[in-house]
Amino acid sequence: MAAVLWAVVAALPGCNLAVQPPRQPAPPEDDGLYYLPFEAGFATIVPQGNWGIAGQGSHLRKYAIDFAMPVGTRILAARSGVVDRIRDDCPNVNCPFDEERCCGNFVRIRHSDGTAAAYWHLVQFGSCVTVGQRVARGDVIGRSGNTGISLAPHLHFMVFAAEGGAGTGAFGPSRDGSMEVAFEDVQGSGVPALFMTVQSRNTVGHDWCAE
Ligand SMILES: [Zn+2]
Repeated sequence: MAAVLWAVVAALPGCNLAVQPPRQPAPPEDDGLYYLPFEAGFATIVPQGNWGIAGQGSHLRKYAIDFAMPVGTRILAARSGVVDRIRDDCPNVNCPFDEERCCGNFVRIRHSDGTAAAYWHLVQFGSCVTVGQRVARGDVIGRSGNTGISLAPHLHFMVFAAEGGAGTGAFGPSRDGSMEVAFEDVQGSGVPALFMTVQSRNTVGHDWCAE
């Protein structure tokens, strides 16, 4: 809004801008830390963690965490970065047993070290950011849903190693380049385990969904 105002002022004939337009506050640098991708105080359960459930499930040999949450829950960036991929036109349909034709919405954020976090199963048109946009940890980037290979409403969160790097963690190398990450606001090792209840301390920054 401020930018629009300044553009109008600048376009006025004879107007000489003596002062510089106010600068947008710079988002915090990427400090490499992860906080849970939903807002502080929200507590939920982990119905599936890294490597699946006893060698079964959609996380088989993947480092990925599911967080149960109602459709429409605000999704926060877990770590600062630049949005590099989005899909948000999949219909609000879940198709857990139809991997070939299934369509799920997601946002992917690339971090400064080349790793990238993916936020899956968002509601149709539920991403609130654009490719190339810089986001800070805590910014609201979208709304959760139940699209794609999903049994029930939840967020599927995973981080991929930088290009050329191996995705690995406590279970060994993953099959898809995903890697284990620890969250500052998860007790113990920081890695959410199966059926653990986790509570976020990620504070809401800019709400891109409220634009
Ligand atoms: Zn999942």
